[in-house]
Amino acid sequence: MMLTMVVDIDHVVADPIYDPNRCSIGFHPFHKLYFILLYGVLLFFKRVRWIGVGLMVHMLLDSIDCYQNMGIWWHSAV
Ligand SMILES: [Zn+2]
Repeated sequence: MMLTMVVDIDHVVADPIYDPNRCSIGFHPFHKLYFILLYGVLLFFKRVRWIGVGLMVHMLLDSIDCYQNMGIWWHSAV
């Protein structure tokens, strides 16, 4: 599961300062809609399923974080 936390690096790459009032879904490079769809595809392959699950959980948590802070599920620029 540690590997899936690598996507959090893009949080840092996009902006060195963590901003809780900004939605990361659709904002960071690896949190775009097409990447999330790609993670969904991973679920269909046994060997990489756990990576897909980890990434989807990560996106879900980011999204929930978004909703709690801003009342939206993803950044408008998806
Ligand atoms: Zn994230």
